This record gives sequence, C-alpha cells and structure tokens, in this order.
Amino acid sequence: MSCNEEPMPFKAPRDYLPYAAQWEDKIGAFIEFDPRRVENPGGDRAGEGRAGGAALPPGTNPAGLPFAVKDNIAVRGFSLSCGSKLLERLKAPYTATAVEKLLAAGAVPVGKTNLDEFGMGSSTDNSGIKRTNNPWDTGRVPGGSSGGSAAAVAAGMVPFALGSDTGGSVRQPAAFCGVLGLKPTYGAVSRFGLVAYASSLEGIGVLADSVRRCRDVFAVIRGKDPLDQTSREAPDGAPPLFKPPRAKTIGVLSPEAVARAIAGAAAERRAFRQPEDRDGESPETAGAALGIAAQAAELEPEVRRGFETAKAGLAELGYRLTDVEIPSLKYGVPAYYTIATAEASANLARFDGVRYGARPEWAENPDELIDKARQAGFGPEVKLRILLGTFVLRSGFQDRYYLRAQRIRSAIRRDFESLLGDGEYRDAAAAPCDAILLPVFPTRAFGRGAAALSPFAQKAADLYTCCANLAGLPALSFPASVEGGLPVGVQLIGRAFAEGTLLDIAGDWETAHPVPRPAGYRSFWS
Ligand code: GLN
Repeated sequence: MSCNEEPMPFKAPRDYLPYAAQWEDKIGAFIEFDPRRVENPGGDRAGEGRAGGAALPPGTNPAGLPFAVKDNIAVRGFSLSCGSKLLERLKAPYTATAVEKLLAAGAVPVGKTNLDEFGMGSSTDNSGIKRTNNPWDTGRVPGGSSGGSAAAVAAGMVPFALGSDTGGSVRQPAAFCGVLGLKPTYGAVSRFGLVAYASSLEGIGVLADSVRRCRDVFAVIRGKDPLDQTSREAPDGAPPLFKPPRAKTIGVLSPEAVARAIAGAAAERRAFRQPEDRDGESPETAGAALGIAAQAAELEPEVRRGFETAKAGLAELGYRLTDVEIPSLKYGVPAYYTIATAEASANLARFDGVRYGARPEWAENPDELIDKARQAGFGPEVKLRILLGTFVLRSGFQDRYYLRAQRIRSAIRRDFESLLGDGEYRDAAAAPCDAILLPVFPTRAFGRGAAALSPFAQKAADLYTCCANLAGLPALSFPASVEGGLPVGVQLIGRAFAEGTLLDIAGDWETAHPVPRPAGYRSFWS
C-alpha cells in the first residue's frame, strides 16, 4: 500500500471472536480482554488525539488491526495493574504515546496483557493477578515479563502486541512462544505512559507474528516525543527502516565464548577479591553463587541445536559469520541487577496507598498506612528487589555497588561499540560487524515452580539479554527452530538505531524459514 491510499478497515471474520475466547480460556493471556472492540472501534475511550494525523511511512498498515498492550503501559480507560495486587483496580487516566500513535494509525486496542509484577521476572508467574500458559504447552510458562503479550500473539489472538523490555522481557517471551520480539534502541520509542521499573534500561517493544508486522508497528511508534526527554529521532546516517543497505557480516557470540567469559569472572574474583568485599558473605556462598550462575548460563541441548540451525541457515543465506568475544559480558548480570534494583527502589516509592492503589481498611497514622499498603500490595519478588535496591544505594556504599555497576555498564557499551560502531554514525568506516547473533535464553519454555528453574537461576540466565539494555542497543529475537515441540529463539543485537538492519536479516531468515505456529493456530490477518 502507498501512503496515500486509504487503509481498508479490518472486518473481523465471524469466527474470530469465538477463536479468541477459546484461546483465552486455555492460556489466560489477558488481564482485561474485549475482542469485540475490533468490530466497533468508534467512540474509542482510549485516544486523546495527541498523535492525530501522524503521517505513516509507506508500507505500514496496522489500520483496523486489533492489538494487545502489556498491563504496565497506559491506555486511557483500561486497567493499568502492572500485574500487581496494589494496582489491581487502577484505570489509566491517560494513554501512552506509543499507543496514541497506533490509535492514530487506526489500530484497535482489545485488551491488557498479563506480566510479571512491574516487569520483574522471566516467567509471568510473578504476576499478582493470574497465571498465563504457553500456547505451545499449557503446562509451561510463556516467559516474561511480557508473557501475556507473547502468548496472545503466538496464539493468533492478536497480530501484534506491545511489551516492555528492561533486561529481556520482550525477547525472552517472544523466544518461548515462537514470535518476533523487538527491543528498540534506548530512546527510539517514547516511554511516556510506561510505568517505570528501571528507567535507564527499559523501553517499549513490539511482539509480532511476522517480521513485516514488527517493522510496520515499530515504524509507527518510534520517534521523538516532547513528553519523554530521553526520546529521540534516529541520527543522520542510521540505516533507513525500510530498504536498509544489505547487511553482510554477523558476529557470532558462541555459547563457548560466554562460558569462557564467566569462567574468567570466577578466576578474577578469586584473584582480586578485597577483604572488605567479604563481610556477611561466606566464601562457600559466593562460590556456590558463581557455580549456579555458570550452570544457569549453559544452553540446554535443544537451545544449542536451535542456535546452530540459525548459524547454518544464515550462512546459507549468504551472510559472513565471524566469531566474536565480549569480555565484559561476564559482569552483565550483577551490573544489571545492581542498576535495575537501585532504580526500581526509587521508582516504586510512589506506590504508597495514598496516591495510587489499594489502601488498607484502617491505619493509625500515615506511616502505618504506607507500610500496610505496600506489605499487602507487593509480591515477594518486588519486595526482594526494593530491598536489594535500597541496599546497593545505602549511604556510604554507592562506590562499592552502584558506581561500580555503572563502570561495568560503560565497559559493556564500549565492547559492543568496538564491534558494531558507535551510535552517532560519525565514522564512515565500516565496523567489523553489522549485527551480533547470540542465544536469547539458555532454556526453552520451562515448567511451573522453582523446581523447574529457581528464581536465582532465572536471573543468572538474563545474561544473554540484559547486555543490550545496559548498552542501550536494539535487539531482535526471532524463532530459529522447534525442538521437542517447543520453539527456540535466537537474537540479533545491532548498532544504535539500526533496527532496520536487524529486521532485514530476520526478514531474510523468515522468507526461508516461516514462523512456526502452535497446534490450533489460525491467522486472521494478512
Ligand atoms: N528478567 C529480567 C528481570 O527480571 C527482565 C525484566 C524486564 O525486561 N522487564 O528483571
């Protein structure tokens, strides 16, 4: 379609509504769901007209399509629970800019999807509201924290959904459910209307049923927004989103390179450990923690097979593959959890039962009111992270944790820049790689409960995803294969504002390897 053509409004086939309802019964992807809205988008309660009349780039056509929004992104009149008991009854009083832009393009929000409370988790089981199942196997989790969005897209209930990615929450559930998951460059999409978890790491991302759809939706939602001072347009010189110059070289970060990096961390720790690092921590605990971390990063055989399939397939498509190392990666998880929890403890201070959310029946004084509201409202993972955050920020100790984490963050950014080039596109000379290929998560969708994958192991496994957030770079997860009945995803990380390059490579892949679908899937959208 050209940009001047009137988009055809979508007419839902009669069996769409029962189809969506049946899937929802099976997987519980939504916290609030009304697919009938797609037939009657008029009188929309969500739009404020802020982004009205936005010119769409040629080729983009979400007009009339239903879409889902993670329940930590505001859509006026819809719930905004953030997966938390504390905000269970909150209705959003305004609409996020990314959603505004989709409304202006004619897309129709049909519901709010389940998530790990405030985006904290990798399974969606940390939701205080409900459980969501993986459409490929309802006994398994959909991944997280944008698990509801990923499950809804994978089941064909909606062609695309918005999620948020602070440390992998769009890419990991996309991989678990077998769909596309794009985490844009930091600042490429406005965060206005996204409830903050860790502001310097996160952004709104896209989960979609195809590369083309992912690109179209990103084309609509990106851009500078006066309501978010960290948002910006792509700099001159960044590859165009449509028809980017063909990428040639993909750096491969192999599981072996990652294992070497982690082994290096353990050795450095033994060599450089300062006596003051030791208080309150026995050597056994520290050693055990590193052991679990190394184990957790190890790929299960099926994921390794999927990764090898992706490598072979990309080489067959004509890409030049070259092995790369990212030495600083080994400190990614500790740096991520230091910064993310520090920011979370500050961002979540606003939820006090006074201005937002559930209030206790009775309290003697304001302090008690806040105590009771937070005690009853937040789940255990959120409480753990607030405690960790206040611990790393406590007075006199910033040097030891927070500032150290920031230095690691800079080192990670530099390591990526040396492979991909910097984000300002000042250097005309080609960088060594157009993108970096790496796993998304060491396992496929896991089963329920700590026995399947402990909370600590889940955090250690964020190694593959959280570095793109620390570096602020775009990353795209796409389905590489189906192993033992479950999808395996791989991801590409690119130079800042090179989303077009990543989508281009994944598009090539998709032409040769169509997106896999779970049993019972039907597509209602072209
Ligand atoms: N698993 C990561 C965490 O728990 C990712 C979360 C996210 O990206 N929102 O923090």
